[in-house]
Amino acid sequence: MIGADGIHSPVRSTLFPGHPAPSYSGITAWRLLVPAPGVRGRAYESWGRGKVFGVMPLAGDTAYCYATDTVPAGGGGGDQPAELRRLFGDWHSPIPELLAAATPERVLRNDVHHLAPPLPAMHRGRVALLGDAAHAMTPNLGQGACQAIEDAVVLAHVVGDGTGAVFFGGDDVLAGYTAARLERTSRIVARSAAICRVTRLRNPLAVRLRDTMTALSWRLAPSRVNGAMDEVLGWPPPST
Ligand SMILES: Cc1cc2nc3c(=O)[nH]c(=O)nc-3n(C[C@H](O)[C@H](O)[C@H](O)COP(=O)(O)OP(=O)(O)OC[C@H]3O[C@@H](n4cnc5c(N)ncnc54)[C@H](O)[C@@H]3O)c2cc1C
Repeated sequence: MIGADGIHSPVRSTLFPGHPAPSYSGITAWRLLVPAPGVRGRAYESWGRGKVFGVMPLAGDTAYCYATDTVPAGGGGGDQPAELRRLFGDWHSPIPELLAAATPERVLRNDVHHLAPPLPAMHRGRVALLGDAAHAMTPNLGQGACQAIEDAVVLAHVVGDGTGAVFFGGDDVLAGYTAARLERTSRIVARSAAICRVTRLRNPLAVRLRDTMTALSWRLAPSRVNGAMDEVLGWPPPST
């Protein structure tokens, strides 16, 4: 059986009843699609005091935007485009223009939870956990769904024979799945959480220090900064 039932997975709590439930990461996130004629080029992300705004130009003169703010969990309701304009309306262009075009039915708001302490394993017996059920993470590396897909590829490899057929090689077959996935996904969960903590800084001095260090890193060690995602993005799938 595969438990791919998301962050609040009942399969996970049945397999590992003593493991802490996902906890609030300290940020609420908005995701929205807006018409964006003229907004082209690379995706980017801007950081402020406890807040983040990202823009990803899409085909068809549309942009996917996301934003986070450091607020207590449980907010929401009401006019979310208006809330976004209140929080980010004085940020740099084109953020105010994009938000001016936002409509309530195209805005999602979610408190972000994550499974901070890793599970001891990604399987128990003949049950495997996959995706957020196994390793819910903050979205700071954009890796939650990506890691779910990697899990699926590895799981298919471990229990398959390479032709699409599935075989069951005994009760221990899923140990290979945990061995291939737990360490990698735990590292990515921890790294995402570390970035999340840095985006939550509100103290002006701490923010100034963070921004200076970031600018210095780009200036002094650009290849190191550029290569920071290599380990995450350079994952080689298992070969048969
Ligand atoms: C703000 C935000 C931004 C994100 N940005 C990114 C990003 O840029 N890149 C990225 O890779 N990831 C991102 N993610 C993470 C991504 O959304 C999740 O990691 C991904 O959706 C996890 O997929 P999943 O299939 O494990 O779980 P889910 O998508 O939660 O799917 C679980 C499914 O199981 C179903 N289910 C639950 N219980 C049962 C049951 N008993 N019977 C039948 N069905 C059941 C649910 O209805 C649901 O459809 C983001 C998440 C958030 C909150």
